[in-house]
Amino acid sequence: MILKIFDFFLCFVAVISLLVASYLFATDSPSLVSKDGSSLQVQQNNPKSSNSSPVTTTATTSKWKYIVIHHSSTKGGNARIFGRYHREEMHVPDGLIYHFVIGNGVKSVNGEVEISNRWQKKLPGPHCFDAKMNEQSISICLVGDFEKDKPTHAQILALVELLRKLQKDYGIPSVNIIGHNDVDKDKTDCPGKNFPWQEVKSRLR
Ligand SMILES: [Zn+2]
Repeated sequence: MILKIFDFFLCFVAVISLLVASYLFATDSPSLVSKDGSSLQVQQNNPKSSNSSPVTTTATTSKWKYIVIHHSSTKGGNARIFGRYHREEMHVPDGLIYHFVIGNGVKSVNGEVEISNRWQKKLPGPHCFDAKMNEQSISICLVGDFEKDKPTHAQILALVELLRKLQKDYGIPSVNIIGHNDVDKDKTDCPGKNFPWQEVKSRLR
């Protein structure tokens, strides 16, 4: 009888050990797998790490439905200058309200795409008055005042290339590439009456 109880105890210990081992293996496995280079799959299966992951997954990117285009309404500038303005004058805690800024050569490199920290973190930005649109849109600001001037050729080429990539990555149709004034009607002229929609849309085809 004593032996049988001892056997049962051993059995019990073995089962507990197995359970503990399988739990440990399960919690350790994502990092083991990611070391093998299949981190994308691991991130998708691990909700704890998918939020902070730099890896793009369908689950975390499906919120991007629109791309909204702005102009800076200034002669020149860059992401750092606009970011400081948004933080200090508009009191936006994260600074720059846009995801991307495309320079025009005045206090910026002509045709250079600056990627904001906001985009690195995939945070929405308060670039429109419409809060719902802000949650589901990627924002691109072209440096310049397109009520008076036009975007440079380099800016248009850079914009089209960026739009193509974003459309491909997030499945955004061309009809959802819109101007700020399509969202906040009667509140803004942004991105300006000279913004070349026809050229941009025809280059995207
Ligand atoms: Zn705007």
